[in-house]
Amino acid sequence: MERMAEAKKPKEVVITLNGVQFVVPPGTKVKDAAAAAGVEIPPLKVDPEKCKGCQMCTKACETGAISGEKKEPHSIDQSLCIRCGECLAKCKLGSIVPA
Ligand code: SF4
Ligand code: SF4
Repeated sequence: MERMAEAKKPKEVVITLNGVQFVVPPGTKVKDAAAAAGVEIPPLKVDPEKCKGCQMCTKACETGAISGEKKEPHSIDQSLCIRCGECLAKCKLGSIVPA
């Protein structure tokens, strides 16, 4: 039981944006962590060369700004993106980059 609890424990995420690295502690909004580090979330896009279509980002995006077929490169609709940065914390491949 103890092991399972440990496995589920959320971990901090380290994000690099425009050369600035900041840490997002568990339970903290990406935007808040960025602001604390003096970083403003810029307009974002998906790098199609890196994106594997895992869809982790689409589940994290509360405005539905990210779309794409599974296993295909995704894209961000700028008109729906509120620059919350949550997708940055979910993409393990670093496919989401400044636009
Ligand atoms: S920054 Fe926020 S709103 Fe924009 S695509 Fe990422 S998760 Fe969606
Ligand atoms: S989390 Fe990253 S690799 Fe996965 S679909 Fe989103 S942008 Fe692509």
